[in-house]
Amino acid sequence: MTYEGLYRWGREELLSAEITEAQLDARLLLESVCGTGRNDLLVHGDREVDSEKQNAYERLIAGRKARIPLQQLTGVQEFMGLEFLVDEHVLIPRQDTEILVEEVLKNLYDGMRILDLCTGSGCILISLLHYSNDCEGVGADISAEALEVARRNARKLLGPKAWAEAGASVGTGAEDVRELGCGEDDAAGAGDRDGRISFVQGDLFEKAEGKFDIIVSNPPYISSGVIGTLMPEVREHEPLGALDGGEDGLSFYRRIVEECRPHLCGGGMLFLEIGYDQADDVRKLMEDAGFLEINVVKDYGGLDRVVYGTKGFE
Ligand code: GLN
Repeated sequence: MTYEGLYRWGREELLSAEITEAQLDARLLLESVCGTGRNDLLVHGDREVDSEKQNAYERLIAGRKARIPLQQLTGVQEFMGLEFLVDEHVLIPRQDTEILVEEVLKNLYDGMRILDLCTGSGCILISLLHYSNDCEGVGADISAEALEVARRNARKLLGPKAWAEAGASVGTGAEDVRELGCGEDDAAGAGDRDGRISFVQGDLFEKAEGKFDIIVSNPPYISSGVIGTLMPEVREHEPLGALDGGEDGLSFYRRIVEECRPHLCGGGMLFLEIGYDQADDVRKLMEDAGFLEINVVKDYGGLDRVVYGTKGFE
């Protein structure tokens, strides 16, 4: 079949399954299978697609009809201008979370140590390290599978030399980078910055050692009762552990605000992504814990998205 014929078929299949972005998803899946770009549909629509690629595309369309998220089918999601690997073990990075990263970046200086709790794909911590000069970061997550994705992203986007985890040699990192098809060039600029990132598996602060200048987190914050009402893509295919914030959605905030004190330097800052209706509650938690200069930041949709504050000197 021709490229355009295949696209039209995919689009109709997705429309019949009532996938909202049928047109876009059909095109992006085809581009992902064929290694093509947006212009190919316009310029090279009459080219024949070989049967192997056609079969692969048919499988992806079937997956999308079964409500598997587009990003789990293509295996990637862009975040902060970087391409992160994703799978079913991590939350797909959301654009709203870029607000959180940008707020941290405004307050980040050379030499700082950052802790990212519930790191998932690692998108927050890796972006912070990518867009800063001389900072060091630890990503913590309870899920071993999520951390595997975060490690692969760190190697892909920061380069093997940034890899500081005990037992992880530069050699291992380099092999993985080759496997992923990205050479040293993709990690340009990372060569002189050794050992900047590491990951620990544990429940929030359980395995976090030492003190940090910045603690950041986009923890699970959806109330348990609401999860059943989410889109099937989210409720059936994204990890429940990355979504469920307990009965009132606030359980991770309570624990983070309560437990962070011994891990935060005097004058250190805590940054939290929140749900649109959680600003008052999270601000109150931080006030009660003695945080100073607490601010709420809105996302581009005008909804409250980030709360941050500073720990006073003891
Ligand atoms: N920190 C990751 C993100 O923002 C994962 C968050 C989570 O699992 N709740 O995408």
